[in-house]
Amino acid sequence: MNRKGESIKEAKHDPYMLKEKYPDPSVCETCNVVFTKGIYKWEKIIPENANKIKCPVCKRIWDDFEGGSLVLEGEFLDKHKEEIMNLINSTAKLEGQTHPLERIIEIKNIDNKLEVRTTYEHLARRLGDAIHRAYKGDLNYTYSDDKYIRASWRRDN
Ligand SMILES: [Zn+2]
Repeated sequence: MNRKGESIKEAKHDPYMLKEKYPDPSVCETCNVVFTKGIYKWEKIIPENANKIKCPVCKRIWDDFEGGSLVLEGEFLDKHKEEIMNLINSTAKLEGQTHPLERIIEIKNIDNKLEVRTTYEHLARRLGDAIHRAYKGDLNYTYSDDKYIRASWRRDN
């Protein structure tokens, strides 16, 4: 079940959200996100009676089922990689505080490119916007009809 595979057409709705209904409250055994009153959020104190689940996002990450991807490249990237990585991580952290389901699945180096894979399209977009705001360059988004986004950014000098 990888976005790059043949299951793209089946992904119009988020299969991870529809599959099951959790008792209220529930807590994810992997990431500790709490499901209550129909939404997922971070709680300082986990309710004692919370039912234990594996949340939709941890399942997505487990299945390596991305909702967005951002590819960065260009000479500027080589020279400022650490700075850019810091911006990616701080943006994701901030975003994750209010949107617990928006997470980075993986950041990987491919030749001289950097690919950031995210659980949903929203975060890939936020990261692309943050990098563009900070460093200009060329930013492009390609959407597919199933809420998937492929973003690319390039700056050469
Ligand atoms: Zn989880």
